[in-house]
Amino acid sequence: MSDVVDRANDLVQQRLDDEMARRHRDVEKPLVIHRFCFDCEQPIPAERLASIQSAKRCVECQALFEEQEAIRAGRR
Ligand SMILES: [Zn+2]
Repeated sequence: MSDVVDRANDLVQQRLDDEMARRHRDVEKPLVIHRFCFDCEQPIPAERLASIQSAKRCVECQALFEEQEAIRAGRR
């Protein structure tokens, strides 16, 4: 009857593997909240995202972007 035990162990192991895979996915989920800068691809600080949820750039790139936008707008 060792076959049955082996099969049961395999099943338990399979469940554990599934559980580990599921937990691993859960751990990676916060990456959706943690965004990367549109320009320099560095992670945008969480406190910046907390204050500006739609922030696409880090503080430096946003400042640079707005500066360039202002120049562009002024030239029109
Ligand atoms: Zn940046």
